Amino acid sequence: HAKRIGRNNYQFYNQHIGGLTKNTLEMASLLHRALQYEEFSLHYQPQYRADTEQLAGFEALLRWHSPQLGQVSPADFIPLAEENGLIVPIGEWVLRKACETNKKWQLEHGVFVPVSVNLSLRQFYQQDLVQRVADILFETDLEPQYLILEITESIAMQEDAAARILHDLRKLGVCIAMDDFGTGYSSFKQLRYFPIHQLKIDQAFIQDLDSDNGEAIVGAIIALGHNLGTEIVAEGVETEAQAVALKRLGCDLLQGYFYARPQPEEAITDLLKIRT
Ligand code: C2E
Ligand code: MG
Ligand code: MG
Ligand code: MG
Repeated sequence: HAKRIGRNNYQFYNQHIGGLTKNTLEMASLLHRALQYEEFSLHYQPQYRADTEQLAGFEALLRWHSPQLGQVSPADFIPLAEENGLIVPIGEWVLRKACETNKKWQLEHGVFVPVSVNLSLRQFYQQDLVQRVADILFETDLEPQYLILEITESIAMQEDAAARILHDLRKLGVCIAMDDFGTGYSSFKQLRYFPIHQLKIDQAFIQDLDSDNGEAIVGAIIALGHNLGTEIVAEGVETEAQAVALKRLGCDLLQGYFYARPQPEEAITDLLKIRT
């Protein structure tokens, strides 16, 4: 606790000097009210099958529009929400909203693809995560195979606990994706013990595809994942050349600006209308 107080003092001291630390404090206090004031929304980014280019799923991505700060990037506010625990109620809102929307697309457009939701570390280790997920699926009437939970390699800090939670989620029938694969640590050990359905190759590797050894590394990740029975998703696909290379390497799903940007629910609904 002393550490926290120390840190706050440091920030207080600094607010007279630079904008950055002051902004962090201000952002933290605004974040506390953001749920209540309905400042959050979800964008959805389509994923496509590499072989047929058919729609294969959506990733739900959180957006925060603060009247005071404007649009704030999740890269800035998620770490803050993680630190002060707000990520738990926020994450629950994301889960419910994503499941609700996916159910709506099923009912109104006959589109049956999974929605992927990012789980933060703290959310993953919250007391009753499995029960909460079960409750949300029940309330929104979404079948579990239409929900994919994205975790990162960081959950393996407590390997046994993580394996237990993942197996319980699996029993529930939801799918698990390992996000940002290749950037964390001890990846191989986890792959042996964790029930993982999808590996998402981090976009850094996709950007490096055209560099020396770039294809060799992505090809090795794809082969590894396939040997372990997982599906491979490439994220951050920005160019046609990347898409072509990924198809040739046998990647299963493609996600990135080259195909579609993350978009508000209404824009996706329009896209589904055109499609059907
Ligand atoms: P992520 O889960 O790895 O999500 C992919 C990020 O890459 C998203 O950034 C997406 O907009 C971006 N992206 C997609 N295609 C491309 C592309 O072709 N090029 C480039 N340069 N970027 C692309 P975003 O939406 O800013 O989210 C950043 C991170 O914030 C996410 O990374 C995820 O870790 C976290 N995040 C977002 N929403 C949530 C949430 O609801 N809960 C939690 N816990 N974390 C979230
Ligand atoms: Mg993700
Ligand atoms: Mg990622
Ligand atoms: Mg990322």
